[in-house]
Amino acid sequence: MGKETGFLELDREDRSYEDPQERIKNYKEFAIPLPAEKLKNQASRCMNCGIPYCHNGCPVNNMIPDWNHLVYEDDWREALDNLHSTNNFPEFTGRVCPAPCEAACTLNIVDQPVTIKSIECAIADRGWKEGWIVPRPALTKTGKRVAVVGSGPAGLACAQQLARAGHSVTVFEKSDRLGGLLRYGIPDFKMEKHLINRRAVQMEAEGVTFRTSTEVGVDISIKSLKENFDAIVLAGGAEDPRGLNIPGAELPGVRLAMEFLTQQNKRNAGDSEERAAPRGTLTATGKDVIVIGGGDTGSDCVGTSNRQGAKSVTQIEIMPKPPEKENKALTWPNWPMKLRTSSSHEEGAERDWAVLTKEVVGEDGKVTGLRCVRIEWVGGQMQEIEGSEFVLPADLILLAMGFVGPVKAGMLDQSGVKLTERGNVDANTLDYRTSDDMIFACGDMRRGQSLIVWAIREGRQAARAVDEALMGVTELPR
Ligand SMILES: Cc1cc2nc3c(=O)[nH]c(=O)nc-3n(C[C@H](O)[C@H](O)[C@H](O)COP(=O)(O)OP(=O)(O)OC[C@H]3O[C@@H](n4cnc5c(N)ncnc54)[C@H](O)[C@@H]3O)c2cc1C
Ligand code: SF4
Repeated sequence: MGKETGFLELDREDRSYEDPQERIKNYKEFAIPLPAEKLKNQASRCMNCGIPYCHNGCPVNNMIPDWNHLVYEDDWREALDNLHSTNNFPEFTGRVCPAPCEAACTLNIVDQPVTIKSIECAIADRGWKEGWIVPRPALTKTGKRVAVVGSGPAGLACAQQLARAGHSVTVFEKSDRLGGLLRYGIPDFKMEKHLINRRAVQMEAEGVTFRTSTEVGVDISIKSLKENFDAIVLAGGAEDPRGLNIPGAELPGVRLAMEFLTQQNKRNAGDSEERAAPRGTLTATGKDVIVIGGGDTGSDCVGTSNRQGAKSVTQIEIMPKPPEKENKALTWPNWPMKLRTSSSHEEGAERDWAVLTKEVVGEDGKVTGLRCVRIEWVGGQMQEIEGSEFVLPADLILLAMGFVGPVKAGMLDQSGVKLTERGNVDANTLDYRTSDDMIFACGDMRRGQSLIVWAIREGRQAARAVDEALMGVTELPR
């Protein structure tokens, strides 16, 4: 523990953001990091609790009090090594993790959690700046070959761990660039993509081969992978979007959030409009935009629409408005259900809750509005409130209602692996093995739509399971 009285003397102080009206003029990251001295002070607030509840919240088991202490001691290099021992990509989670660790922190009982996420991010960013993050190739090779399908955080973490254990790893990715939803879902203003590129360079130097624009099940068969590799890891995400099943939903102004977000991410990467939007440009510029769905994806659509110059942005959600503040006695140290206002919401959007969509209204084949009705939830059942119908003007309706699970056509159908009742790939979290002995699964493809930090955890654990299956023993951490 750095300073016994740190938490008594100092209040929580976190990163600030650029002014909303300025930052929406571009797609760049806008968090303003705390200077090192302030971070040191913030780290000193950690109480090194006898039971560190922050651990409880962290899916990758980050040793949070240890690196808080090291930052306080100004030993950033040791802090980085410690952080990397549990998390391959702390600069990703340091930017886009919702930080369940902070919700679980003992100091959150008084709404003053340690700024764990900002400290994590600063350690990783400093590591890159100082040149401390270098390739760590395996000293000996095992002669085993592993195919990893999907280059999202699960696939990348898995591939890096396996390569470091000495296996020859090839990552197959159907998109033209690596990163999965980190690349084409999450906008640049939340996480710039050069962060993925430099990790890819590190991994290539560690012996990982990347094959982009290669869809397993289409461009290369599972049979061929089985013939050429000793094990296969499916880390293809949960990409099947939940659709809108109401009259008018087939109109061309009703579009999937991922199509919208991917196009903008490709433009930001410098792609031509033809490459970014092969099936036609989709923008919010000058439009009344309605985003259906209140989660991360919806929030990213809000931020992107504002940057594109939407006339208005409205986000609606079927669930009731959560409480502004949680009842700590009931929720802590668990993740509380409460109203979350993202940086994108702060940039401007109307938000409405307990709203059910009834019909997309159109004229001459174009979307003009969305007819909705207010609902109340009684005993878990949804009931429409009589006479509460209303129509929101709309030119563009973005569907951000989550994902039902992995896409079945192609790879999964071909592999024949057993699925769970919910349609995810069936594998447990001990051996990550599917119904086919040679095939493993991790990340959203196994657990359903989740978080980056869970994907990294599963990628790491699946790598351990594969290593053990191939070698009989493993030294990779769980
Ligand atoms: C818009 C959006 C914003 C989000 N924001 C956040 C956030 O802020 N914080 C957070 O923690 N989580 C966020 N999430 C969730 C998070 O991105 C996912 O949980 C995480 O990326 C899952 O990682 P994954 O590696 O399992 O899958 P993915 O990231 O989905 O990667 C799967 C990869 O597999 C590839 N693939 C699939 N099938 C094949 C095939 N047959 N052959 C070759 N390649 C294939 C795909 O192209 C993709 O690149 C967000 C999700 C979305 C949609
Ligand atoms: S729960 Fe909070 S105060 Fe306690 S060890 Fe973890 S970060 Fe430090």
